Amino acid sequence: MSKNDGSIFQKIDPWINDDDGIREAGGMAKYLYIEGLLYVRRNINGRDGVIPKYALGEIGKDIPARDKHAKTLVRLGLWIDSKDCWEVRNWAKWNKTEDERRALSEQKRASGRKGAHAKWHSADKSEAGCRWCVEKGWVMP
Ligand SMILES: [Zn+2]
Repeated sequence: MSKNDGSIFQKIDPWINDDDGIREAGGMAKYLYIEGLLYVRRNINGRDGVIPKYALGEIGKDIPARDKHAKTLVRLGLWIDSKDCWEVRNWAKWNKTEDERRALSEQKRASGRKGAHAKWHSADKSEAGCRWCVEKGWVMP
């Protein structure tokens, strides 16, 4: 049974096979590349497109000669070798970075608070700490 609560998905370009590197990599290296994307999505916090090398056993468990295919991905520039990890090329181009996700989350929270103010607060039912109630002069800052 999947551990996914239905909130986590990985987008994959439906034209991934048009990428020169992917085409040249071949089927098993492409499979490793996609497994790498899935790994990054499952372990997204603190990892913007980064795959630790110790995870190769996990992401390549069904892939014979996975070390060879990892080297192929590096040679073709699909993974960038960086000491003890690989960085997925262009990951941040297609995915929100941790900073972007955090900013978006804060934006949604602020929007929710503003919505709650509009729906529930009034001069008679103001809330301490609500910036919009403060702006209206319903409570003191
Ligand atoms: Zn309010």
